[in-house]
Amino acid sequence: MIQLDKVTKQFNTANGTLTAVDNVSLSINDGEIYGIIGYSGAGKSTMIRLFNGLEKPTSGSIIVNGANITEIKGAKLRAARHKVSMVFQHFNLLWSRTVEENIAFTLEVAGVKKEQRQVKVAELIELVGLQGREKSYPSQLSGGQKQRVGIARALANEPEVLLCDEATSALDPETTDAILDLLVSINERLNITIILITHEMHVIRKICNRVAVMEEGKIVEEGDVLQVFESP
Ligand code: ADP
Ligand code: ADP
Repeated sequence: MIQLDKVTKQFNTANGTLTAVDNVSLSINDGEIYGIIGYSGAGKSTMIRLFNGLEKPTSGSIIVNGANITEIKGAKLRAARHKVSMVFQHFNLLWSRTVEENIAFTLEVAGVKKEQRQVKVAELIELVGLQGREKSYPSQLSGGQKQRVGIARALANEPEVLLCDEATSALDPETTDAILDLLVSINERLNITIILITHEMHVIRKICNRVAVMEEGKIVEEGDVLQVFESP
């Protein structure tokens, strides 16, 4: 579970203090697909960076899978962060490495031995439906295939939470639907909590259980997707 209690994040800028996240309290359950929607500048990316410990809140507390990541440090913080993986809008692949090398790289960094790496990479490639493309380079893949590599790489660490940062925003509508279907199947098969931020209502409607609507750093509406979007 992820729990934010009165979280505020401010940045000091040339024009003074900017409040990117403003007194947000929120709780996301294990196994949920949770959406955060808002216009550009609403504070969505800052939220995601707070979830994975890349940013520290100015005030408030953030509990991720039982660990208060605003208080712990060093090895404990690294262990907590390890359970949270990211999927990016522009894939962030290594362009000089093949599909299997891109996925193996994460395992290499984590210190997984070569034989285990090979088994794990094959499993992940199957999971995301990239069989036959193991030796391809990112430049030889479609956008959807690149994002499948991004997802496989994010899953290599066996995370408990997958953070998707506009993960389908660079894709056409059909490919978006295929990637969203993949995220649902991952959520169901691996029981991973998925949090996605997006500016697209369609994405939220298609796969999220619950949604938070952000405006100017605040959550202005929150609840079941049907309630938030369908009520008169
Ligand atoms: P979104 O992801 O919804 O587009 P962001 O979280 O990126 O929103 O940004 C929210 C606000 O915080 C914006 O006004 C943005 O300019 C500001 N902001 C984000 N990161 C920083 C930073 N590192 N330094 C200063 N201002 C920032
Ligand atoms: P964007 O154009 O939005 O940055 P790309 O898919 O082109 O998206 O790039 C994704 C990531 O891969 C970026 O982080 C970029 O720095 C990196 N990248 C792009 N080209 C290369 C390259 N030739 N070698 C290594 N990394 C690259």
